[in-house]
Formats: sequence, structure tokens, C-alpha cells
Amino acid sequence: MGEKSKILIIGGTGYIGKFIVEASAKEGHPTFVLVRERTTKHPEKAKLLENFKSLGATLVTGNIYDHESLVKAIKQVDVVISTVGGESIADQVKLIAAIKEAGNVKRFLPSEFGTDVDHVNAIEPAKSVFKGKADIRRAIEAAGIPHTFVACNGFAGYFLPTVGQMDTYSAPREKITILGDGNKKAVFVKEEDIALYTIKAVDDTRTLNKTLIFRPPANVLSFNEIVSIWESKIGKTLEKTYLSEDQLIKNIQEAPFGLSIVLSIMHSVLINGDATNFEIEPSFGVEPCSLYPELKYTTIDEYLTQFA
Ligand code: NDP
Repeated sequence: MGEKSKILIIGGTGYIGKFIVEASAKEGHPTFVLVRERTTKHPEKAKLLENFKSLGATLVTGNIYDHESLVKAIKQVDVVISTVGGESIADQVKLIAAIKEAGNVKRFLPSEFGTDVDHVNAIEPAKSVFKGKADIRRAIEAAGIPHTFVACNGFAGYFLPTVGQMDTYSAPREKITILGDGNKKAVFVKEEDIALYTIKAVDDTRTLNKTLIFRPPANVLSFNEIVSIWESKIGKTLEKTYLSEDQLIKNIQEAPFGLSIVLSIMHSVLINGDATNFEIEPSFGVEPCSLYPELKYTTIDEYLTQFA
């Protein structure tokens, strides 16, 4: 493999973006982060930006709604990774236009970082959220931009600290609510691992125009299996309540919008089993732990130890 590609991250100050910036810089890629002017004045984000600079990353001022700033930033790099948040998914058509105009990008990774949206069977509002990401996939393909779609599945930090409980900030020690029968296999991956595998993939011809679908063998587990690992860590059997699919659907319908998105994604993953109910065919997908067996990922078992 030749020289490491130059990478631009758009959304680097976001939740998953910061891990991607760190991994890119630590892996020795010349790393550029597109930052909105106003964000440099945000106290917490300013600290994050200082950390990026200390890792050797270059900050460039820009905004996805400022075409010139985008084209200028994109012309300096080989790879563009977008980690913009849910509200900006559709607006990535602006990134596609800028990448087309710049004409130099060898790989574009749009903001995905979840379930493989071409293999989901979700209910609303998750259905529309996933369709928004799928529409961006189709626009990238139609524009002929070399790409990799990152379907890392669930962020460990979103689910495991509370063992999937929505009404608490800590892991349960007495009672637990399990969605459905708890038997469908889900996938959760530590954010640092998502970032490292993503960065490994950008210069890899095996991931070109493919979806990187995460299935770390030890992290493909059902809700029941995760609970049982947690119980063994705390040396206690929890009192379990199984929430029926009908009740979950009712909760989704009655929840405010933000919460209904989260609950309907949980329905897709934990009731439908959308993260694992298809085979990864070589025609469309590759699994990163198989591609990079030399990397050691954090297992769910190891991850849960910190909360016991
Ligand atoms: P965040 O909302 O935390 O961060 C969004 C980033 O985009 C910030 O850096 C923000 O910058 C930047 N941004 C927003 N608007 C603009 C703009 N106009 N111009 C330039 N930059 C902009 O995103 P998340 O990390 O939560 O989400 C990233 C992806 O991960 C999404 O696709 C989301 O669906 C997915 N996700 C997956 C989860 C999972 O469990 N698999 C869980 C949560 C999210 P600023 O700092 O200036 O605001």
C-alpha cells in the first residue's frame, strides 16, 4: 500500500466524528477537519479542536451550505468522511455536488454509521430516517463517486452503559426491561473500534464501492445474552419484564419525535433483527473484522466490565 491518503472529516466535532478524527490522525493520515466558524467559539468544542490540533490535524473553516468552502477543503484531500448528524443527512447532496466539482476524491464515506440501510425493514419514523441515508447512497452511485458505506451497527456507548434501559443513566442492578422476546441478534461496537476499522478501510481496494458491515463475532449477541453477561458481572439475577412488540409500537406512536426515532430504531434492531437477518454477500458487503484480523476489538463482555 502506498502513501496514506489525506482525509477530510466533515462533522468531526460530533459524537462519532471526534473518534474518526482521532483515529485518522493517529493512523498517520494527513487529517483535515471542516469546522463551522461559530463552533470554534463553543467552549467544549474549542477544547476538542485544541486536541485535534495537538494530534496534528488541520482545521479548515467551512459549512456544508457554503459551496466554495467545501470545494476548497475537498481539493486538498483524497478522502472525504462525513459524520454530520441526523438532521443534515439529506443535505449531503451538497457534499456530492462539491465532490463532483472538485473532481479529485478517491473515496467518499457519507454519514451512515448504523444499520445497513439497504437491508432494513423498519417502521416509522426510523423507516424515513433509513430511507434518507439510502437516498444518499443512490445519489453517490448515480454521480459515479468512489465510496464506502459504513454500517457499523449500534454504538456501544449508546446502549451498553444502561444495558439498553431508556429510563436511567446507569446499568440496572435490580430490574430490567427487555424488548420483545430478547432473542434477535444485535451488534454493538465500541466507538474507537468503529473509527479505527473505518480509517483502515479508506485506502483498501477491497472496500471500494462496498458496504462495510460490522459483525465482530463476540459482539453479535441478543438482548438476553447481553443481560446474561451483565448478570454474571454483578453476580445477580435481575427481575425481567418483557415488553411486547405491540406495546413498543404504541410507545413509539405516543413518544415525542426524537424519542420515537430511537425507539423505532430499537424496534428495527431488537424486534426485527435487522442488523443480522441477512448474509453479507461479496457483491455488496465486506466485514471489517475479517478484513483486518490483526486488530483486536473490544468485546461486549470486556466493555461491560467497567460498569460492574
Ligand atoms: P452529531 O449531531 O453529534 O454531530 C454532527 C456533526 O455535524 C457536528 O460536528 C456538527 O458540527 C456537524 N455539522 C452539522 N451541521 C453542519 C454544517 N452545516 N456544516 C458543517 N458541519 C455540520 O452527529 P452524530 O455523531 O450523532 O451522528 C453521526 C452519524 O451517526 C449519523 O449518521 C447518525 O445517524 C449516526 N448515529 C448512529 C448511532 C448508532 O448507534 N449507530 C447513534 C447515533 C448516531 P458542530 O459541532 O458545528 O455542530
